[in-house]
Amino acid sequence: MTELDLQVAERLAHVRDRIARAGGLGVSILPVTKTFGIEACWAAHRAGCGAVGENYSQELVTKLGGQLLPFGVHFIGQLQTNKVRALAPVVTVYETVDRLSLVTELAKRVPGAAVLIQVAPESQEGKGGCPIVEVPALVEAAQAAALEVRGLMTVGPTLGGPEAARPGFRAARSLLDRLGLSMLSMGMTDDLEVAVQEGSTQVRVGSALFGERPRLSTLVR
Ligand SMILES: *Cc1c(COP(=O)(O)O)cnc(C)c1O
Repeated sequence: MTELDLQVAERLAHVRDRIARAGGLGVSILPVTKTFGIEACWAAHRAGCGAVGENYSQELVTKLGGQLLPFGVHFIGQLQTNKVRALAPVVTVYETVDRLSLVTELAKRVPGAAVLIQVAPESQEGKGGCPIVEVPALVEAAQAAALEVRGLMTVGPTLGGPEAARPGFRAARSLLDRLGLSMLSMGMTDDLEVAVQEGSTQVRVGSALFGERPRLSTLVR
């Protein structure tokens, strides 16, 4: 057990506590390890987490590629079609599928890939995500292409505080139910209570577990 192991285990317990106090049952925690070294991934694994979340394809492949990993890797960053090939050997769930070109590319390079469709609530654009009205057709297309559609993913707004995320989270949950899907990835360090109250089944948590992230500009993406 390293010092980091102890710290991550302790912080995980605290996040679990926050989820419980928000009324969450059976909500899983995806530790977001982007910008943190591979030790963060191993610490999360040793603390009992089944998978980690990563955003940047180059960083992810450099960090984790070429090894047999005993944990899953969820891709949660903006996904480009030309990155799918490099990600295929490492990624176990693609959480940010938001357009047909990605469905096509995934079906070709990673047949049967497990995916979430990223939903963009009307109130926010420019962060990726499929407009709500177009989600049912995209889900259908992904299923027709034999991808395994597990559910939906959404990201709350950057501004306005946790409450600003509530309407979008609620809309995502109602869409999930309408589509008969089961997994809903929503909520991060700052808005996980609101996400849990609105029916999240997986929160993606970075800074609450690993501390503040290094500045992006200093990293190779
Ligand atoms: C970075 C990131 C997270 C984790 O953010 P924290 O605020 O550090 O918990 C979750 N989801 C996505 C899509 C992210 O990019």
